[in-house]
Amino acid sequence: MKEPHSIAIYPGSFDPPTYGHMNIVERSLKIFKKVIIAVATNPVKNNLLTPEERIIILKKIYRKNPNVEVDQFHGLLVNYAKKKKVKVILRGLRTVADYQYESQMAFSNKSLNPHLETLFMMTENRFSHISSTLIKEITHFGESAKDMIPPLVRKMIEKKIKLKKEE
Ligand code: ADP
Repeated sequence: MKEPHSIAIYPGSFDPPTYGHMNIVERSLKIFKKVIIAVATNPVKNNLLTPEERIIILKKIYRKNPNVEVDQFHGLLVNYAKKKKVKVILRGLRTVADYQYESQMAFSNKSLNPHLETLFMMTENRFSHISSTLIKEITHFGESAKDMIPPLVRKMIEKKIKLKKEE
């Protein structure tokens, strides 16, 4: 019999991907056979990296892991999940603020598709302070966020921020 929940979709902005995101993926692979990292491509004003750049980075990070698929989606997550025939959405939780936002999203996704389940994985303590927004801010002001992101991500965002400053 086919296992009902062998695949999960881990959706997000990943602008940029961080060690916090990577930790969620790594731990979720102990529960799911496959995780689809789905980069949201809906335009957001303050995104630093283009969806293509985020996808390139994630594909490089997971190039040796056949259990991780990197994909993108536009529009509503429920429609993407339906298209992929996946019934589990995976999200990470760090703080109470995350909980407020995440519960709102989970409730609305549930009302849009009652068959879709959202599962939350608690961050590990050592990653709880890591956020993509904070990393962009640290890098913007000339400090290195090297403890929060892999070297290829650091190189890419430093280059992008430099270009933005020159604009
Ligand atoms: P979004 O804009 O959809 O929130 P993010 O890329 O910011 O996208 O986050 C994607 C998911 O990863 C969210 O569920 C978020 O809570 C989770 N996440 C982000 N950073 C961490 C971290 N350091 N530890 C655990 N989960 C995290």
